[in-house]
Amino acid sequence: MTDAARLFRDTFGSEPSGTWSAPGRANLIGEHTDYNDGFVLPFAIEHRTRVALGTRDDGRIRVVSTFDTEPVEVALAELDTFFPERRDEIPEWARYPLGVAWALGGAGRQGVDLAFSSDVPVGAGLSSSAAIENATAVALDDVWQLGLDRVDLAQAGRRAENDAVGAPTGIMDQMASMLGRADAAIFLDCRSLDANVVDLGFAAAGLDLVVIDTGVTHAHSTGGYGERRAACERGAAIMGVPALRDLSVDDLPRAQELMDDVTFRRVRHVVTENQRVLDTVRTLREEGPRAIGELLVASHSSMRDDFEISVPELDTAVEAALGAGAIGARMTGGGFGGAAIALVPHAEVPAVTDAATAAFAASGFAPPTIFTVTPSPGAARDA
Ligand code: ADP
Ligand code: MG
Repeated sequence: MTDAARLFRDTFGSEPSGTWSAPGRANLIGEHTDYNDGFVLPFAIEHRTRVALGTRDDGRIRVVSTFDTEPVEVALAELDTFFPERRDEIPEWARYPLGVAWALGGAGRQGVDLAFSSDVPVGAGLSSSAAIENATAVALDDVWQLGLDRVDLAQAGRRAENDAVGAPTGIMDQMASMLGRADAAIFLDCRSLDANVVDLGFAAAGLDLVVIDTGVTHAHSTGGYGERRAACERGAAIMGVPALRDLSVDDLPRAQELMDDVTFRRVRHVVTENQRVLDTVRTLREEGPRAIGELLVASHSSMRDDFEISVPELDTAVEAALGAGAIGARMTGGGFGGAAIALVPHAEVPAVTDAATAAFAASGFAPPTIFTVTPSPGAARDA
């Protein structure tokens, strides 16, 4: 029995009718490009959030999680009154699954009980939020017989995160967690939502993807993330384009003349990062994963110096990994904390782990959590 099914039985006193799960994700490259209508190259990881679900006859929804074993209960018909205006009355974690039920048009549907368990690290830039949203979305799509496709379900997750939680994030996380494939990344055009599977071939090339979680927590709903989004919108407006996606590196000299230095550097990060995603996809297809290291390193430098969303812990993790034999390394996720990723030859993983641990200790940082992630399948009903 899964932890989710056990929690379901302990909380609701009956057996669930099934379990569904969705993975977290790591983003290989393409950071802060999603909400600029640009390109990203994430992959789903083996860490998953699982939901056990049972139906009920009174039109109510109850949610409970191993993170908070006090169930939260709402009438489905009342979801529209809580989201978005009165969302503060719902405990924060419960806004994710209840927000998905709301975004899927839960009013008038059959009542449900949901119990969640997860091994996706929270706040580490691996999108535990998309995992809980997508697990909820695929489960409700099945039991409510909505017949939605994966892009529709990803959009419901994003709407929950934007409007029910209040975090102004893009669509990348939900798409990666929905569409993930073993040993592959998802090359996503965030404007058209065209998604293409790109083989990674890490295992065949003898490479591991190492995550170095700094333990420094980020908060999407506040501060720097919103400020970066605003700078991107300002830059696009000055250039007279709908989104930064519509600029290429050839436009950068003109951008530099037209805007202040900070806005320009935000723009330069997004424009060059979009190009790096395209270059990474081409390099993976033509030369294989050992050839993408420099692109990862350039992405990190751009986030550190132009977008200014790194922190000393992330820079330390990247430098230590590169010094100990990583082919490439960069911070991943929204920034201001979270994790770095490093592409590492299998034999060098212990050296990278030791080097990062030692560098953190030497800087007086709390010890990082270091583990590997494997490109894995997306959201699904469990067998
Ligand atoms: P991340 O980078 O992990 O996505 P976020 O801040 O976007 O970080 O989302 C983390 C939040 O999502 C948690 O603080 C919690 O509110 C919610 N969450 C994620 N997974 C679970 C879970 N299994 N049970 C309850 N809440 C969860
Ligand atoms: Mg998140």
